[in-house]
Amino acid sequence: MKAEGSERLKVVQGDITTLTVDAIVNAANSSLLGGGGVDGAIHRAAGPELLAECRTLGGCATGDAKISRGYRLPARHVIHTVGPVWRGGAAGEAELLASCYRRSLELAAAAGIATVAFPCISTGVYGYPPEPACAIAVDTCRSFLGEHALPREVIFVCFGRRDYELYRAALVQGEGAP
Ligand code: ADP
Repeated sequence: MKAEGSERLKVVQGDITTLTVDAIVNAANSSLLGGGGVDGAIHRAAGPELLAECRTLGGCATGDAKISRGYRLPARHVIHTVGPVWRGGAAGEAELLASCYRRSLELAAAAGIATVAFPCISTGVYGYPPEPACAIAVDTCRSFLGEHALPREVIFVCFGRRDYELYRAALVQGEGAP
């Protein structure tokens, strides 16, 4: 018997810009004006209209999130969140990373969004170690889904094989949870 939150958590390996979901989450920087990694890929795929809307959003604090339209993406919306830069783990990184997932899900729920796809926030250029980042992502999303009807489904999109295996193991572990 699967835990309620678990059935609504999925993992896939691939490019988040190709997903047809209600919203994809962008691991942005606080300017919201684009960058490298997944941020660059999302802006390239969405087109210049995304940057134009982002200019009106007034930036975003670390641990917070802002929502925009998806423009040329198959996803209808982009939720931009700013993950913490890893500074060794004693600078509130875990709380800030959990806040990224929670705030993104709150915005999704408020917008009536059913399906949300997350990249592995902060684990690229921002240097957050993949194992604890995965545990925070899965725990935060599972507990949110346990308390809210929306979003109905969360998909973790892993670019690399290692992240994919990590998330798969973490999701299987949670299936036995009460
Ligand atoms: P951060 O600055 O938050 O660390 P990065 O974009 O550098 O953000 O990396 C975050 C994660 O996104 C990394 O795991 C990276 O492999 C992954 N990533 C990069 N491009 C894509 C993509 N097109 N789709 C999904 N994940 C991606």
